[in-house]
Amino acid sequence: MEFSSKLLENAVNEMSQLPGIGKRTALRLVLHLLKQPEDQTHRLANSLNQMRTDINFCSNCHNISDTKLCEICANPNRNEKIVCVVEDIRDVMAIENTSQFRGHYHVLGGKISPMDGIGPGELTIQSLVDKVKEGKIEELIFALSSTMEGDTTNFYIFKQIEPYHITTTTIARGISVGDELEYADEVTLGRSIVNRIPFENSLKST
Ligand SMILES: [Zn+2]
Repeated sequence: MEFSSKLLENAVNEMSQLPGIGKRTALRLVLHLLKQPEDQTHRLANSLNQMRTDINFCSNCHNISDTKLCEICANPNRNEKIVCVVEDIRDVMAIENTSQFRGHYHVLGGKISPMDGIGPGELTIQSLVDKVKEGKIEELIFALSSTMEGDTTNFYIFKQIEPYHITTTTIARGISVGDELEYADEVTLGRSIVNRIPFENSLKST
């Protein structure tokens, strides 16, 4: 792509680093911004800068939060003994939308994926295991997507906490294999949380 302006080229190159945005789309977006009032671009840039600089993670569940303890962890009406293990904030949002879960979450920050260089140490698994060790958790619900990486991560965590004999369950696999949680419809997802099954059963069926 030949550009008549180095400034334009830089902006397009940066924009096209985003997932799903090719050079053509990046150019369209940048030209769109140029047509809008200057103020709008500044607000966009500022909000991104501020988010990146000030972003904070809940000290308990590791979800993105503006406060030290997120709203869910700080809510006394939620059951901290039941913890749903998810990959990231999108899963928390999807499950919260169902209104079927009143426990806490533990956000791993990804899934174990040796291909992508993500090992257990890159995730928040240790702090989850620590919480189990300290007797703070009665039930862990695995709610990772049913991919090979999701299954590997579930199994790794399961092995780590097995000696502590807490209840481990997994959301019912009404959600078809390979689907990401965030795409499951609310009713299906809500039902699969209510009808969760013992984790050991899911091992036998796969
Ligand atoms: Zn939290």
